[in-house]
Amino acid sequence: MDYQKIINKIHQSINPFLGIGKPANYIAPLSNVDPKKFGISLMTCKGEVFKIGDSEEKFSIQSISKVFALTIALRKYGSKIWTRVGREPSGSSFNSLIQLEYENGIPRNPFINAGAIVISDILLDSMKKPKQEFLDFLRNICDNPNIDYNYEIAQAEKETGFRNIAMANFMKSYNNIHNDIDEVLDFYFHQCSIMMSCKDLCRAFLYLSNYGIDPINKNIIITKRQAKKINSLMLTCGLYNEVGNFAYRVGLPGKSGVGGGIIAVLPNELVISVWSPLLNANGNSFAGIKALDLFTTMTGKSIF
Ligand code: GLN
Repeated sequence: MDYQKIINKIHQSINPFLGIGKPANYIAPLSNVDPKKFGISLMTCKGEVFKIGDSEEKFSIQSISKVFALTIALRKYGSKIWTRVGREPSGSSFNSLIQLEYENGIPRNPFINAGAIVISDILLDSMKKPKQEFLDFLRNICDNPNIDYNYEIAQAEKETGFRNIAMANFMKSYNNIHNDIDEVLDFYFHQCSIMMSCKDLCRAFLYLSNYGIDPINKNIIITKRQAKKINSLMLTCGLYNEVGNFAYRVGLPGKSGVGGGIIAVLPNELVISVWSPLLNANGNSFAGIKALDLFTTMTGKSIF
């Protein structure tokens, strides 16, 4: 399959879609990103790399970081984490508070904000220098020592993250947050602020396309069963309340972030990531979904 030709074609046909949507302007620095940015990177399990557009420009990965946090939590605690967070799609927006009261402060899944805040709390229990350890993990799996936090974005989220602050307090009232709320949120906001390119994301996610083992250096990141579980959760919960539409149109496990990035995994074959900053009403990259839809339509490659 000539992946370069395919992503070139996607790049050509995506232009009319690049002005559609809005940036995540509730996080001030994200509204200053050039709305016309667009990049695709694809990496196969054999290590072949294909790219087009702004695929090497770093952007804020936002909720895509929730997959890394879950990976670290599963490595450390295994299935014990599931007493604190669920595994069902939420059917509501990523920052919704509504289910938390009905469900006694247990978030529906680790890929909505409330779920990732609980995972951050769980990780704090066993990390002496949480921010450094998180970064070390990422730098290692993506083979790039330059991956870093964006402190301006983390600070902006702290200043305007009223819903996340509310959620953390609310969950604490149900005893589902154990550490100091400010510390938990500081860790969570920093994770969201991490800057990576499409190329970095592909490299980092390669273990999920290869049963938990990094196919390049053979490092075991997680077990085969855990890789299956994370991919399943991405398929059912990775795009918030648009997960059905994404599965219908794209047919791959994926994870999005309000920075405009989306990563998708085809087990045993490849990972593909796209970036375009303008979002649809569900907080997912408008052109990003279109590009991945074109990719699986043109190649016939999906998990179905
Ligand atoms: N940092 C964002 C928030 O907490 C992450 C949301 C997202 O990417 N969907 O709201």
